[in-house]
Amino acid sequence: MTTRVKCPTCQTEVIWNSESKFRPFCSDRCKLIDLGDWASEKHVIPVEPEFGYETLDVEGYDESSFFKED
Ligand SMILES: [Zn+2]
Repeated sequence: MTTRVKCPTCQTEVIWNSESKFRPFCSDRCKLIDLGDWASEKHVIPVEPEFGYETLDVEGYDESSFFKED
């Protein structure tokens, strides 16, 4: 019996075996799209910052480069 899953990105059926290296995604492209979603507002996970600006100062981060704008 073959296990099939649906690609979370495009709903294409993906055969779940060692040949499907992007499973549960159908392709590298869909995997990257999903990762992009995680980075966007679709999947926002509230995260407490591990350290504040003061800690960054102590660690020797250069604020001007840390907060640089594009
Ligand atoms: Zn897909």
